[in-house]
Amino acid sequence: MNNCLFCQVVTKEIPSKLVYEDDRALAFQDIHPQAPVHLLLIPKKHFDTMLDIQPADLSLLTHLMELIPKLAKEHGLAKSGFRTVINTGSNGGQTVYHLHLHLIGGRQMTWPPG
Ligand code: AMP
Ligand code: ZN
Repeated sequence: MNNCLFCQVVTKEIPSKLVYEDDRALAFQDIHPQAPVHLLLIPKKHFDTMLDIQPADLSLLTHLMELIPKLAKEHGLAKSGFRTVINTGSNGGQTVYHLHLHLIGGRQMTWPPG
């Protein structure tokens, strides 16, 4: 059995507020939003972290990159801007070990990140 939280979001065993789905990717609202818009974009294929990406996966990664502007536009972030984040490992603040990209917007971001 796969205990990965986001794999269970993919299979719908765990409900989510889906905003996008295709054969390779899923986007849904973060359960603890850090901004007015806070989406998580994930590959359906499981990777623990970015460290597990292989050359054969690059077209999937490209697909995720293509989805960022689409989702940003659909959620009204194109003009105001937004932030994309991939946390990796302990120091990166990763809490869910299924590769995911945060798409955050709707307020002014600060730098450096915490
Ligand atoms: P990270 O800290 O980069 O691993 O991000 C994990 C994110 O997943 C956090 O922002 C959580 O709020 C979010 N999260 C955890 N469980 C769920 C869930 N069931 N549905 C939606 N988002 C979740
Ligand atoms: Zn997974």
